[in-house]
Amino acid sequence: MIVLPREESMREAMLTAAVRRGFLEFQDELIRVQQGLVGEFYVDRQWDDMRLHEPYFLLHDFQTPSHQIDTIFLCNKFLLILEIKNIVGHIEIDSTTHQFTRKLKDGTVQGFRNPLNQAQRHQRMLAQCIPMLPILYVVVLAHPKTVIERIPQNAPIIHSSGLEFYVCELLSSFPPLLTNEQLDQLLQQLLQMQVSLKPKLNIDVSLMRGGVLCHRCTRQMHYQHGDFICSACVLKDDDTLLRRALSDYCLLVDEWISNGQFRTFLGIDSIHAAKRLLKKLGLPYTGEKRFRKYHILWNRQ
Ligand SMILES: [Zn+2]
Repeated sequence: MIVLPREESMREAMLTAAVRRGFLEFQDELIRVQQGLVGEFYVDRQWDDMRLHEPYFLLHDFQTPSHQIDTIFLCNKFLLILEIKNIVGHIEIDSTTHQFTRKLKDGTVQGFRNPLNQAQRHQRMLAQCIPMLPILYVVVLAHPKTVIERIPQNAPIIHSSGLEFYVCELLSSFPPLLTNEQLDQLLQQLLQMQVSLKPKLNIDVSLMRGGVLCHRCTRQMHYQHGDFICSACVLKDDDTLLRRALSDYCLLVDEWISNGQFRTFLGIDSIHAAKRLLKKLGLPYTGEKRFRKYHILWNRQ
C-alpha cells in the first residue's frame, strides 16, 4: 500500500524554469534529475506487479530536513531503504576507496556519489529513531542495461527486475516483530518526520530572462491589445504561456507578485493593462491599491 506517493518533482520544475529563463549552467543537472525520475518511476511500476502476501507500506520521496530517501518499504519485520539509480553503462565500486564509477562504451569514465554510502547515511538516521526494527538498504539499478562490473562482496546492489525476489527473500528470512497496531504507530511516526522542502537554486534573479516566451521559437512574445503574440511565429497565447511564465516566476523568484513586478517581468508598460490581465487570470490577492500582491501557484505543465 502506497502511503506517500511520489510527487512530481519540484526540483525538476525549478531546473526546467531556470534553463528556460537563461540559466544554462543548470542544463546538466536538469538532465541528471530527469534521468533519476525516469528510474524512480520505472522501479515504482515494479511494485504494482508484485504479489507480496504480507501487508506493507511504501513511502516514496521520503524527506527530512537532512535526508531524501527514494523509497521506504515498511513491514512488521523490517524497514528497507531503496536508493534508486538510473545509470547506463558499466558500473564499478572500489571497495577500498569507495569510489563509484561508470564506464561508457566509448571508454569515458565518470565518478558519482557512492549510492551505498548514501544509503548507509539514511540507515544510521532511521536506526536511531526506529530501534524496534532492523533497518536494511538496497541500491536498485533502474536501467536494465546497466552492467555491474566490480562491487564490494555482498554489497546490496540489484537490478530492478530482481526487486521482487529480493524483497521476498527478506520477508522469508525475518520474523514478525510488530503487531498491526505497532506497525501503524511506526508508520505515523515516519509520516510525522516527513517534510516537504522547497529546493533552492543559487541564481541571480536580476539576470533572469523575463517575458512570456513562445513555446515554438522561445522568443519573448509582445503584448498587444490584451494578447501576447510572437511576431516570428504569428502565434497568439491563450494564457497558457502567460501562466507558465508566472509559474517560472513563482519557482525562481517568489510566489507573490505585485503589479509593478508583473509589468517588469513581462514587459508591459501600462499599469491598467497589467491590472486587467491579473484580473483575468483570477489570482488570489492580498492588500489594497499599490500594496496589493497576487498569489501565483506553481503550475505543472
Ligand atoms: Zn515564436
